[in-house]
Amino acid sequence: MIKLTGISKSFGKQQVLKGIDLQVNKGEVVVILGPSGSGKTTLLRCINYLERPNEGHIAIGDFNVDCKHAHKRDIYELRQRSAMVFQHYNLFRHKTALENVMEGLVIVQKLPKEEARRRSIEVLEKVGLGGKLDAYPSQLSGGQQQRVGIARALALNPEVILFDEPTSALDPELVGEVLAVIRKIAAEGITMIVVTHEMGFARDVASHVVFMDEGVIVEEGTPKEIFRMPKEERTKQFLKRIM
Ligand code: ADP
Repeated sequence: MIKLTGISKSFGKQQVLKGIDLQVNKGEVVVILGPSGSGKTTLLRCINYLERPNEGHIAIGDFNVDCKHAHKRDIYELRQRSAMVFQHYNLFRHKTALENVMEGLVIVQKLPKEEARRRSIEVLEKVGLGGKLDAYPSQLSGGQQQRVGIARALALNPEVILFDEPTSALDPELVGEVLAVIRKIAAEGITMIVVTHEMGFARDVASHVVFMDEGVIVEEGTPKEIFRMPKEERTKQFLKRIM
């Protein structure tokens, strides 16, 4: 249902993605692992077109974009089909939790306000924040702010949610509550691509694990294949360092 073909991206002379091919089936949770600087975040940002790939094709559902010739309309369509959860939450500071979630529904999806409000309350309740609708980000813990970020993505009802290191800015005691919410929505069959260093989460929740290094996919497989029987030397070295 999501198919990336030959995705390449350079920043100046540095080629950060070197022809990435990746397929994600509906309902799968794909975890992307790899050393810092290997291109994981850039790959996620390319899917949402926060970065423009220099080359390649992105297909989400029945919509297919040739990145070399993408127009505004194509980018809009890709963004309708995917939603991003950011490392630093990226909430509007002057808006409440409810207003943060409603924003995309009203402004981008053009839903009537009452419907947007209903849907936003529903997803905020789902992430355990039904009691914090009127709180501003500064009145919420990091874990709660990230749960607002997840609710905002969920509310858009995208075909895929892209998580960019969703727990790496959190104090250790707050990581669990955010992972629990991600687990819960994964269990509902929502397709996800997750960049994370949380190996326990990857092992338990991923249907598929991708190991990236230096802008290429070195190896991919089930969690069991990657964690227990990695084939490539670079994967083995990485896992040895991190586990
Ligand atoms: P990872 O997520 O695996 O840590 P990134 O995708 O963040 O890797 O970064 C890969 C490389 O691309 C790094 O060398 C980084 O410095 C570079 N990079 C990322 N974004 C930009 C940017 N906007 N401008 C220039 N270089 C960038």
